Amino acid sequence: MRGFFDPRQLAHAPASELHNGGFVPYAETPARAEAVAAALADLERPADRGEAPILAVHDTGYVEFLKTAPARWAAAGRPGDVIGYIWPIAARRPVRLERIDALAGRYSLDASTPLTAETWGAAYWSAQSVLAALDAVRGGDRAAFALCRPPGHHAGRDYLGGYCHLNTAAIAAQAAIDGGMRRVAILDIDYHHGNGTQDIFWSRGDVFYASIHADPATDYPFYWGHADEIGEGAGEGATLNLPLPQGTALDAFRRAQHKALAAIAAFAPDLAIVSFGADTYVGDPISGFALRTEDYETLARDIAACGWPVLIAMEGGYAVDALGANVASFLAGF
Ligand SMILES: [Zn+2]
Repeated sequence: MRGFFDPRQLAHAPASELHNGGFVPYAETPARAEAVAAALADLERPADRGEAPILAVHDTGYVEFLKTAPARWAAAGRPGDVIGYIWPIAARRPVRLERIDALAGRYSLDASTPLTAETWGAAYWSAQSVLAALDAVRGGDRAAFALCRPPGHHAGRDYLGGYCHLNTAAIAAQAAIDGGMRRVAILDIDYHHGNGTQDIFWSRGDVFYASIHADPATDYPFYWGHADEIGEGAGEGATLNLPLPQGTALDAFRRAQHKALAAIAAFAPDLAIVSFGADTYVGDPISGFALRTEDYETLARDIAACGWPVLIAMEGGYAVDALGANVASFLAGF
């Protein structure tokens, strides 16, 4: 299977994040991507397909913010990485977006996703990696892998969050549709609900979003991922949420994945995009499921057996020592 990654994705390395009431070292480290790259032979560097596929999903003001916020933050005398600390409450009258402090809150879902001067470049090449994998599948490959880092599924059209800045799975899905595919399914099997992906395609009937994740009653992103969230308008029924309790191991996870795969089969997609997070691993430091390394191959075989062309986009996974083996196990299933 071809895989894609650009070393410029490593440059984003914030110092710390706000977690459980204090600042702790940033969990989404460059070492994650280095561990995956070391475990996989021959990752290819993606070609540069430009900004248009990114702007087909993301708001122009938000993209401008990602590019310019670090310089504006420094110019305002702020030390450290850009991090929101004041947020406009939802559904109030329009707010003024002048000061960098206001912008940082407006375009942020949380305070766990700081920006550095290198963030935009890393996120840009993460998006280029997923677009390269899409082209491999469009060219006839049965499956292709994008080592997306930073990850993408918590980022919405106009906000960052959950270590995510550009929604790589959504960028690939939109590019596939714009390239002539009629229906695309996204299967999100990261430990966390992909609120950004759900949000982007909430009212769309041409992109099916199915997610298996920790119950938002106990886990980030808390507001979204409940079973009664099914989309609306043309998208009603094109969102499927399968929350599971902490402690979930292979058998229950696999049953949920069978449900998701059956729903995707009924949707009859031209392409399946898998948002793959290995933070479902039993040893993950910030998550609570109990999958083992060999379980990922089992889950991948079930997906491969459906017969769709598959694009795998990397999401989370924070047990760095096991991450390379977990990703290699998943890819082996294809
Ligand atoms: Zn996750």
